[in-house]
Amino acid sequence: MRRQTRAALFLSGLALVVGLPLLGFWARRDGPPRCAFDGLPIEPVYRVTVHHDFDEPHEFCCVQCAERWLKHRPRALVVVTDEATGQQISAMLAWFVRSSVVTNRVTGNRVHVFQERADAERHAAKFGGDILEGAARPLQ
Ligand SMILES: [Zn+2]
Repeated sequence: MRRQTRAALFLSGLALVVGLPLLGFWARRDGPPRCAFDGLPIEPVYRVTVHHDFDEPHEFCCVQCAERWLKHRPRALVVVTDEATGQQISAMLAWFVRSSVVTNRVTGNRVHVFQERADAERHAAKFGGDILEGAARPLQ
């Protein structure tokens, strides 16, 4: 192989190695927001946001990811999304239901969030779920 051909091959390989991650970064930059725990796209109706004093807010694709991420971190203000209306509410005021409905096939999350108790009870009755109360409440 001629020296110039080898140099050209080396340069095109180098361009691929440097260029592909850059392309990936640019492609993701304009895409949907992604979960801070597992990088999955965040569906707005299941979004959980954790606000800290010390850092930018972190967004998650489901209750389960936010819980795992918060496990070894200081307490923070957690905002969840009411599945019935899409409204953002404090996790302290939310009703949580664990049901047979999986919100995300990858994470397997089955915890649902509602602002109104009636919506939580309706979901629990329809999909064989339980309202999570006391120590079973997530994100507290
Ligand atoms: Zn996630």
